[in-house]
Amino acid sequence: MAVILDGKAVAAKVKAEVRERVDALKAEGKRIPCLAVILVGEDPASAVYVRNKKKDCEEVGFISRGYTLPAETTQDELISLIDELNADDTVDGILCQLPVPKHIDSIAVLERIAPDKDVDCFHPVSAGKLFRGTPAMLPCTPAGVIRILDEYSIDIAGKNCVVVGRSNIVGKPAAMMLLDRNGTVTVCHSKTKCLAEVTKSADILVSAVGRANFITGDMIKDGAVVVDVGMNRNAEGKLCGDCDYSSCYEKASYITPVPGGVGPMTRAMLMENTMTAYGIHENEER
Ligand code: NDP
Repeated sequence: MAVILDGKAVAAKVKAEVRERVDALKAEGKRIPCLAVILVGEDPASAVYVRNKKKDCEEVGFISRGYTLPAETTQDELISLIDELNADDTVDGILCQLPVPKHIDSIAVLERIAPDKDVDCFHPVSAGKLFRGTPAMLPCTPAGVIRILDEYSIDIAGKNCVVVGRSNIVGKPAAMMLLDRNGTVTVCHSKTKCLAEVTKSADILVSAVGRANFITGDMIKDGAVVVDVGMNRNAEGKLCGDCDYSSCYEKASYITPVPGGVGPMTRAMLMENTMTAYGIHENEER
């Protein structure tokens, strides 16, 4: 039976820390951090994510600026808005909610966001700095994974860390961050042979695949730490992770639930990144 890694509680702590810093800025009459969130089109899931980001900003005391653009917005129009926000000294973070409509090249859009305002950390400069080990900000989901391990004093150094999934937004940066913390890291993907043998070697298993019940208890070793990044719908339409919770819970030493694990951490780390971007902007000549 595992200890549950309570992402909701840790996220609340991270947000409270940010709130404290914002309150101090307010008390000193200083500028308040500001996050600009762009939504193009009417994808209902994206609209929920954007609403939640606005709610988080309110909770920590940030100024949030929302830009809801019609689905027909051209790439040039979107890029002009990003240029405007890049040049705006009162904006600390810029986030363009993905996916954007098909006629827009998401890579071109993400690359246009100034790296010092890239709170999602999807810009190649942010990825490069992470690779080099000198990041200014860290991608929110893997940063949330590391933070939750830290909060429960789970040591990464020297541990066998297995990351299942190699996306640019979760798997690859999670692997880099575990490596940076001196984990011995293996990255698995759809072409990995004998996956269960690899996952069974993990002291710390991070799953970011996107398939319900993909990791079962017989694929983990006794006492493993299981971090489930997956956000899927099961046959009944209920939100669930990649891991078969009950069988993994029986064998793991620690496990993140879904919901209530990595999801809230991702949201909280976005607030922390916006605060970091604010610090960068306030400390430089403008
Ligand atoms: P992607 O679809 O971009 O990547 C999935 C990865 O899983 C790929 O690298 C793929 O391998 C690998 N994979 C697929 N099938 C297998 C298999 N049979 N065996 C081993 N590996 C496999 O997804 P994301 O990284 O964007 O997201 C992963 C999950 O995390 C999703 O459920 C998503 O909703 C969730 N998520 C949750 C967040 C949160 O805040 N909690 C934030 C972001 C994502 P290959 O590269 O070979 O195709």
